[in-house]
Amino acid sequence: MGCSMIIDTAGFIHWPHDRIRGCTISSSQLREIETHAPATYLLLDQLDVRVATPSREGLKQIEEIAARTGDLGGLSPVDLDVLALGLEQDCEIATDDHRVQNVAEASGMAWTTVSGNGISSNWTWKLKCVGCRREWGDLGPDPKIEECGDCGSKVRLVRS
Ligand SMILES: [Zn+2]
Repeated sequence: MGCSMIIDTAGFIHWPHDRIRGCTISSSQLREIETHAPATYLLLDQLDVRVATPSREGLKQIEEIAARTGDLGGLSPVDLDVLALGLEQDCEIATDDHRVQNVAEASGMAWTTVSGNGISSNWTWKLKCVGCRREWGDLGPDPKIEECGDCGSKVRLVRS
């Protein structure tokens, strides 16, 4: 079994405790979390957060990939640890850092954003009929259509 998810330090600042539960962090993140999310830091044990240290080989591999993508100079030692853990443990990484995302992508790792989960204003939405699949776009944030005029089926809000 791979690990649950590696969450960068921003996740500890922004995410509710239930989402942090069971995740993995690098040992080098402990100090950042203690500084930026002290209340959560005290709960790390209770939240079953796993602390891991990447191997030298994992780090070397990540440094090589980051050098290729041109991101190496902009990544902190903690960023590199997070990426190396993701590579070694085949985990998804949650981060808003574009360089980390870029290197994760280049390494074939799954990643997700910290701030973009859930309903985000960055996404656009459209209404779609569950019956005939007719779509309505550009309806604004509070669309009023609930039933399809063509087939009478329910209309749902979906991400476009
Ligand atoms: Zn319809």
